[in-house]
Amino acid sequence: MASRTVDFLIVGGGVAAESCARALREEGAEGSILVVGREPDAAYDRPALSKAYLRGEHGRDDALLRPASWWGENDVELLLRTSVMKLDPGERVAKLSNKEEVGFDKALIATGANVRRLRVDGADLEGIHYLRTFGNSDAIREDAAEAERVVMIGGSYIGTEVAASLTAEGKQCAIVMLEDVTLERQFGEQVGGFFQGVLEQHGIEIHGDDELERFEGADGRVQRVVTKRGRELDCDLVVVGAGVMPDAMLAKQAGLDLGERGGVLCSSGLETSAPGIYAAGDMCEYDSVIHGAALRIEHFVVAEEHGRTAALNMLGRDVAHEEVPYFFSDLADWVSMEYVGPGAGEPVVRGSLDDGEFTAFYVHDGRVSAALTVGRSDDLDAARRFIKGEASPDRSALADLDTDLASL
Ligand SMILES: Cc1cc2nc3c(=O)[nH]c(=O)nc-3n(C[C@H](O)[C@H](O)[C@H](O)COP(=O)(O)OP(=O)(O)OC[C@H]3O[C@@H](n4cnc5c(N)ncnc54)[C@H](O)[C@@H]3O)c2cc1C
Repeated sequence: MASRTVDFLIVGGGVAAESCARALREEGAEGSILVVGREPDAAYDRPALSKAYLRGEHGRDDALLRPASWWGENDVELLLRTSVMKLDPGERVAKLSNKEEVGFDKALIATGANVRRLRVDGADLEGIHYLRTFGNSDAIREDAAEAERVVMIGGSYIGTEVAASLTAEGKQCAIVMLEDVTLERQFGEQVGGFFQGVLEQHGIEIHGDDELERFEGADGRVQRVVTKRGRELDCDLVVVGAGVMPDAMLAKQAGLDLGERGGVLCSSGLETSAPGIYAAGDMCEYDSVIHGAALRIEHFVVAEEHGRTAALNMLGRDVAHEEVPYFFSDLADWVSMEYVGPGAGEPVVRGSLDDGEFTAFYVHDGRVSAALTVGRSDDLDAARRFIKGEASPDRSALADLDTDLASL
């Protein structure tokens, strides 16, 4: 028996949850809103954990997405350090870790993702870190204060961003990764190579086409990374960025349909297989009307936009999620990248990689499917239109700086 009932139950305390609660109020919801989040902090800027927050340039309060007073002012109840343990879509009741049973009319599941942990010899040594929460970033920063040599496992966003941040803090960093070139899986060899060049110019050692074999240490603390190719890299600190897995546990337990990408299967309006229950953010696998395929995306702005679309539909607006997924990343203050997509294909470069100012349009079957830009953010609006199929410029027009993309 539910001890109380709310109009809107939002599970997960991250950006998707915060955005949904905010949009509900902005769009005129008058009913009760309860946000239940497992972490001790209200929604915060998770991307900062590998960037300004890790470097100590931002404090916790700077990283909060809303000031502490916002929740009360907007009549949104926030239960922190609390998990939703069970969700019954039929009875419309949630069981919380504080033993409360809460009935709901509409619900959003936005439980995010968990880091992929490596199971190799030495994985339990101290000084080996993963990065997802404030607490993880604090622990890395604390350990880094005493460290000289840091090894990153993984050459994707977390590995490259943390390597850049800690190098900017004076540490000697190395990256070990499966790929030949950093960020190659996302952007291809040519563009990934540009970012690798930036990292190497700042003294970061990059060991591609290799794999972690084991960690070695003494007195319970990591001292060395040993790779499958036989490299032995001395270190005082390791940060693993080996990807994340959507946290679909609650949804699975509730009997919701899951997708092929491990997320919770949703309609184009982000409704799960249970009517009136929506999903958003890293664990949402939705039917993208733009791409004509199921997508699951692990990006901050996407989670924020999902939260908004879900809120509109919780209010009965019946809209599809039609945003082109957008992503940003910074390597210290050396270089910033922005991306819209996701897509594949051959890159057509507008501008110059040598000058560090370019947009790579990824063209597949004669159509722009994605674009990555460094220093040319203005190209992204055109890229979004191209991805939506509103125009299909040829390769020469894309590459020609004299062609006004807005006119195409
Ligand atoms: C270090 C780092 C750097 C990043 N950098 C970038 C970047 O530069 N650009 C970018 O676009 N993206 C970046 N991301 C990814 C981005 O942060 C995520 O895509 C975004 O946070 C996803 O938001 P979300 O709300 O779906 O999930 P999350 O932010 O993961 O929030 C989910 C919350 O739900 C809680 N939860 C889970 N289960 C339950 C439950 N049963 N009950 C209650 N609460 C529960 C979790 O504890 C968590 O607090 C970065 C991520 C990390 C970790």
